[in-house]
Amino acid sequence: MKVVYLGTAAAEGIPGMFCACETCRRAMERGGRNIMTRSQMLVNDDLLVDFSGDTYQHFLKMRKTLVDIEHILITHAHTDHFTFEEFFCRFEGIGHGVKVEKLKMYMSKVAYEIMMRCITARNTDMKALEKRYEFVIVEPYTTIKVGDYTVHVLPGRHASENEAVLYVIEKEGRTLFYGNDTGIFSEDIDDYLVKQGVKINLLSLDCTNCDKVYNYYAHMNMAEGRSIADRFKKKGLLADDVQLYYTHFSHNPGYIYDDLVEIAKDKYGFNVTYDGLVLEV
Ligand SMILES: [Zn+2]
Ligand SMILES: [Zn+2]
Ligand SMILES: [Zn+2]
Repeated sequence: MKVVYLGTAAAEGIPGMFCACETCRRAMERGGRNIMTRSQMLVNDDLLVDFSGDTYQHFLKMRKTLVDIEHILITHAHTDHFTFEEFFCRFEGIGHGVKVEKLKMYMSKVAYEIMMRCITARNTDMKALEKRYEFVIVEPYTTIKVGDYTVHVLPGRHASENEAVLYVIEKEGRTLFYGNDTGIFSEDIDDYLVKQGVKINLLSLDCTNCDKVYNYYAHMNMAEGRSIADRFKKKGLLADDVQLYYTHFSHNPGYIYDDLVEIAKDKYGFNVTYDGLVLEV
């Protein structure tokens, strides 16, 4: 699988949208990989994970539009992952030449309900919406078919109760674990994946807290990410060629990309994502 990290930051981006802190100032000054937009991943040009307001810019950077996208997996309804206000851009008469009539969007029941409340409040044309979108509700601890992909749906520890899900995406014997926007999660996840015979080739984990410890549980830091990797390894869930990556970064811990790579690699044996990173998984 070809995987592109289109965006790698947490909700406010780096530099933060309304931020003049020292970290954001340094990121702005150095540019390049230090500039991080909201998290999004593209798999093989046809499967997208999450749909933030940065989506349009992400595709423009590749000199592409989203016409070829057939499936979008939504992790949860926070704005850095799901911007349903953009739906109308694909309505008939506005989005021409799309590869499939209905774009399939997968999300938890809670995320679906949040979305519906918002789009109903906006008086969205529901007929136009139904013509161009199909919404699929996913349940944790199920394995579903998404086009040619097999996707395991797992519960994230994040957002409102039962809202966030994590996805394990498989195709042709290759597997990626997309695990951001979650705190340390239950070992039931490990057991489920063992039962499914999963061997992970790319382990991509939340690193919002970098190497700091905060008193909330909805994200992870580097040590916690490392502990998940160790746990998975013990249970035989990691393939021999596994690639380990931290992603979903915030400016609040005080690091830019240039700092993160050193800490991540030396202390924790992880790599650091950046916007535009392409991996062969
Ligand atoms: Zn997020
Ligand atoms: Zn800042
Ligand atoms: Zn979130």
